[in-house]
Amino acid sequence: MYEAEELIAKSINNIGGKIKIVSVDILPLVREQFEKTDMNNGMLKDYFNFSLDADIKSLIIVALPSSPCYVEIEWDFGIIEADIPPVYIHRDQQLSMIKETVSNVFEHFHLKSWPVVFPKKMLAAMSSFGKYGRNNLLYIEGMGSCHRLTVFGTDMICTEEIELASDLRMDRCSKCGVCINQCQTGAIDKENIQIAVDKCLTFHNERKNPIPDWIQSDWHNSLIGCIKCQEKCPANAGLWNRKKVGEFSYDETQMIIKATAFEALDTALQNKLSELNLDRYFDVLSRNILLLLKAKNLL
Ligand code: SF4
Ligand code: SF4
Repeated sequence: MYEAEELIAKSINNIGGKIKIVSVDILPLVREQFEKTDMNNGMLKDYFNFSLDADIKSLIIVALPSSPCYVEIEWDFGIIEADIPPVYIHRDQQLSMIKETVSNVFEHFHLKSWPVVFPKKMLAAMSSFGKYGRNNLLYIEGMGSCHRLTVFGTDMICTEEIELASDLRMDRCSKCGVCINQCQTGAIDKENIQIAVDKCLTFHNERKNPIPDWIQSDWHNSLIGCIKCQEKCPANAGLWNRKKVGEFSYDETQMIIKATAFEALDTALQNKLSELNLDRYFDVLSRNILLLLKAKNLL
């Protein structure tokens, strides 16, 4: 392994992460696979950009642990725990941590980096960094689905040959159907390799659009997203450790529910939400809190 590759890998390991460096030559294969099996039913095809800067020679895939968590929300009848699946919280902090961690090595070797926007999970699965579950999440050894995946391009030459994964899905999924049974909306189909994105709660509760009538009120289980197909997944056994990351008093909850805009909140509450990166979801937070309260029969 080339010294820079080794030092970058070491620095990411030191902050508890895992890393894979892969030649950019894998990209056309990822694109082909993405177009063939588009896991998001075409919804992301205009979002991704496969035309990279010509100086990019390799792609760095980093996974940092990201626990499932919850915040406590005080309401008229007590305190509820509002679940938040992995990945939503502390995004900015984790991205800065990666940047800071690798910057010394990049400076030392005069390397450059570029942000890239393409199917990260597919790249990671094809380069054997992880495997898909039946629920369309990426599972990584030792982290399960509790991780944040980050990819960026560099002009560093990758010395390793591309080793394409022969199977993108975990073997254990063929003998397991836990997530199919857990998913109340029927988004995961035994026969279909893709989940039906338009049936997934996450797709609906991350967006401002009205929640469709066919979604039953007691199906809502998280402040944002949905934990159902992950929390009981055997590939997450021992890894699904919920952490409390914050609490909102009765007054703060009322302020969130009544606020017309994020900027209308008082500064302390804005900061609290921003630290958790929940400011990104402020547009749907009020509605989702009310949905959760209703699901718990508190409204
Ligand atoms: S619950 Fe079972 S089928 Fe679903 S992703 Fe996990 S291991 Fe695979
Ligand atoms: S996130 Fe929820 S709704 Fe979506 S597939 Fe998983 S269990 Fe089903």
